[in-house]
Amino acid sequence: MIRVFDLHADLAEAIRPEYDSSSSALAERWIPLMNDGGIGWSAAASFFSGKESWQDMQACVRMVRRDIENSGAKLILDKQDLKAMPDDKPVFLMTVEGMCGIHDQPEEKIQWLYDQGSRIGSLEWNDQNDLATGNSGDPARGLTEMGKAAVRKMNELHMIIDVSHANEKTFWDLMDASQLPLIATHSNAKSLCTVDRNLTNQQIRALAEKGGLIGMNACESFISDIPEKRTARTLAAHARYIADLAGPEHVACGFDFGAYYGSKQSHDLRSPEQTQNFIEGLREEGFSEEEIKDIAYRNVLRFLEEYM
Ligand SMILES: [Zn+2]
Repeated sequence: MIRVFDLHADLAEAIRPEYDSSSSALAERWIPLMNDGGIGWSAAASFFSGKESWQDMQACVRMVRRDIENSGAKLILDKQDLKAMPDDKPVFLMTVEGMCGIHDQPEEKIQWLYDQGSRIGSLEWNDQNDLATGNSGDPARGLTEMGKAAVRKMNELHMIIDVSHANEKTFWDLMDASQLPLIATHSNAKSLCTVDRNLTNQQIRALAEKGGLIGMNACESFISDIPEKRTARTLAAHARYIADLAGPEHVACGFDFGAYYGSKQSHDLRSPEQTQNFIEGLREEGFSEEEIKDIAYRNVLRFLEEYM
């Protein structure tokens, strides 16, 4: 079974309903499913939709850190930790999705997120906040001055910037502002599925030219406009499309499994134990076994080795 690095998993949402500071919801419920599907590394996102305060953000990030620690799994905090191979548990990487709770002192607050273990972060979810503008925000509004300060701080810390929820203006502002490559942890190709959050050819090429990565998103509505085509096999066609456009070294996995956040989807890539359906799809798309390993996890490990 080929191991996979999943760049986007809504694990705060998965942990919260069963959270108990003395045990681990990940260990009890989710790690066995990740193991069944070959998830060797998983992002653990703390998710903020636009209404959370800074205190809410802190509580969530602490909860995720605590649950990972209680699970006994390894956590990637520095490059040395990239050498840790998954054994009976996946290796985790903490991420932040949306920073709506930051209204002042962005440098200090980003430093706090980093100190808690967060190594990838997006300034926005779909919301429009004090740092940046997400996909549902004003199309004419992008990165703010405070957002630029946040980018400088993230670059200084080598905390990777995720553009998956940025609106187009924010995306291009981030391209200009960031000294380091950007990643889209969970977005597909707009040419194959027109949902707003998928990436245009121009965005895909720009991410690749800057050395970034694009994580394939398994959420049904991001796979195809045609309901019957929302399958792991069609998601593999997005990987093929992006590989042909920008190079297979820029393709990764960021499944955003609906199972973690309780979304009712019925296709064959809704939950971590179904991960190998995507790997099988990559084979059917004609990728070599070496290319499949690159897309599954090696592109991410190499990227983090270079830029984290
Ligand atoms: Zn998301």
